Amino acid sequence: MSKLVDNFGRQMDYVRLAVTDRCNLRCQYCMPAHGINIVPRQELLTFKEMYRLIRVLTELGVNKVRLTGGEPFVRRDFVGFLEMLSYNDLLDAINITTNGALISHHIDKIEKLEKVKNINLSIDSLQRDKFAKITRRDVFPEVYKTFELLEQSSLNLKLNVVVQSGFNTDEIVDFVKLTRDKNVAVRFIEEMPFNGKGQRDMKENWTFNKILNEVKTVFSVDEIQSEKSSTSRNYKIDNHLGTFGIIPAFTRTFCNDCNRIRITSTGTFKNCLFDDGVFNLRDFIRKGASNNDLKELFLYLVKDKPENGFIAEANRKKGNVSESMSTIGG
Ligand code: SAM
Ligand code: SF4
Repeated sequence: MSKLVDNFGRQMDYVRLAVTDRCNLRCQYCMPAHGINIVPRQELLTFKEMYRLIRVLTELGVNKVRLTGGEPFVRRDFVGFLEMLSYNDLLDAINITTNGALISHHIDKIEKLEKVKNINLSIDSLQRDKFAKITRRDVFPEVYKTFELLEQSSLNLKLNVVVQSGFNTDEIVDFVKLTRDKNVAVRFIEEMPFNGKGQRDMKENWTFNKILNEVKTVFSVDEIQSEKSSTSRNYKIDNHLGTFGIIPAFTRTFCNDCNRIRITSTGTFKNCLFDDGVFNLRDFIRKGASNNDLKELFLYLVKDKPENGFIAEANRKKGNVSESMSTIGG
C-alpha cells in the first residue's frame, strides 16, 4: 500500500476533519462576538463526501481521525455520522473535540461506538462568570455536567484549556488540582492568533515554560513518556489520578514529528494548521474525481508538507494568520 510520506520522511496517519464551521459559542480567542461569516450549507462537505475522503485516506495508511469544527454536535445527525464512520474497518480510532454544551444526552450512545475512544472537552474556566466572559455564552453548568458524565464514562477524557493572558491564568493551578481525584488529562494550550482578527493584545505571553513554571509554584511534577507524535509534553504529580500536559501550539516545538493533515469543513486540504490551504477536495470530487484520482492527489500534496509551522506561515499567500479556528478545525 502506498503511504502518505512527505519530503522529510514523516508519515501521515492522523487526519483532523472539521465537520462544520458553525458553532453555538463565541469564544474570544476563536471568533469575534458577532461570529464568523458562515458558508452556505451546500459549500460544506456532506457526510457522504467526508466518509469517502476518510476512506481513501485510510487506504493510504491513515488510521485515526479527529472530528472537530466549529462545534461538531451543531451539525445535524453528527452521531449518525459517527456510526457511519465506525463502519470503516481501516480506522482504529475516532476522536472528537467538543465544547460539550450539547452532548450530555448523547454520551450513552457514543460510549457504545467501539472506535470512539477519546473526547477532548474544551473548558477554559471553572468559574461560571469567567466561562461566560470567555465563551460569550452562559453555558458553564451544562458543560460542567458533561465533564462529570464523561469523567465517569468509559471514554478517555482530555480537557483543553486555552491559556489566555488576563482571563484564566489564575486558574492554571486549579485545573491541575482537578487531576488529584479525577482521571482526566488536562492540557494547557498556548493561544494562537486564529480568532477572525489576528493577534490579540496580550499583557503577557503565556508560553510553554511560563505555564509549566506556574504549575511548579505549587506542585512538584514528573514528566511522563509521550507518544512520539504527541503535540503535548505531559506530566504527573505524585498521588494524582490524572495528568496534565502543555501544548506549545504557538511556539511550535513539535513539528519534527508531525503526523497530521487536515480537511476543513469546506473540503480544503491543509498540510499544516498554519498554511492557508493547499487544495479544494470538495470541488475535485464534485467534478467527478475517482478514488484513484484522490489517492494520487493526496500522495502528491503531502510531499510538500512544510517542514514546520513557521515555514508554513511564512509561505502563506493570504497574509497573516487571522482566520477563525472554527473554519479550520482546531
Ligand atoms: N468547538 C469545539 C471545541 O471548542 O472544542 C471544537 C473546535 S475548536 C476550534 C477546537 C479546539 O481549538 C478547542 O479546544 C479550542 O479551545 C481550540 N482553539 C480555538 N481557537 C484557538 C486559538 N486561537 N488558540 C488556541 N487554541 C484555540
Ligand atoms: Fe466554538 Fe470551539 Fe471556537 Fe469556542 S473554540 S467558538 S466552542 S469552535
